[in-house]
Amino acid sequence: MSSASEQRREQLVEVFNEAAVCEKCPLSATRTRVVFGSGNADADLMFVGEAPGAEEDRQGLPFVGRAGALLTELLEGIDLRREDVFIANVLKCRPPGNRDPQPIEIESCEPYLARQVQLIEPRVVCTLGNFATKLLTRSQTGITKVRGAPQVHSLGGRTVFVMPLFHPAAALRTPSVADTLRSDFAKLPELLKQAPPDAEPAATPEPSNAEPQSSQAEPALEADQLGLFG
Ligand code: SF4
Repeated sequence: MSSASEQRREQLVEVFNEAAVCEKCPLSATRTRVVFGSGNADADLMFVGEAPGAEEDRQGLPFVGRAGALLTELLEGIDLRREDVFIANVLKCRPPGNRDPQPIEIESCEPYLARQVQLIEPRVVCTLGNFATKLLTRSQTGITKVRGAPQVHSLGGRTVFVMPLFHPAAALRTPSVADTLRSDFAKLPELLKQAPPDAEPAATPEPSNAEPQSSQAEPALEADQLGLFG
């Protein structure tokens, strides 16, 4: 690992430590654990879902359970392991009862995702499902219309390919969605070979990439102890 990569990884651990004790939005009162994300801190490929569910909240890990198992299987289908990619959500804490994220929660939590993209430096960011897709593409066009076609966007101060994909949970419910998700995954190896995109074509406002602030000085958890980052 180059010293630049090592430095970015260390900074990611710092952001993890900030998030682990974050109380910037009301979800801090109801979560069990912050689900920061896990995987390769130097990944070319990132996945971003909506928010942790009940099991993720319990374990502190993203995409566990049946949807997570399908994501692992889809990755294996393109010769990748979970350790090769980075998996996260827009919101790092579970909304009670899996209700829709509220604007204040999104606004408060977005800087963490921006910092993750800034430090991991992926080439391709796959948005999983409608919510993450609309937020990261800054468009109200639904997932069924945009899935499987890469876009170019500026995230966390970087220009990346954004690949909208169906959410694995939707694929578990509907076999035809699973087939589509599988065929969209098959496009990823070629996309990853492409040169990083030039600047985002349309001048649209991007989510804030300001440093997330934490009122807590000491980290509650150590990312390295948890083995979150490869
Ligand atoms: S801003 Fe994010 S990490 Fe902080 S409490 Fe809200 S959801 Fe959790």
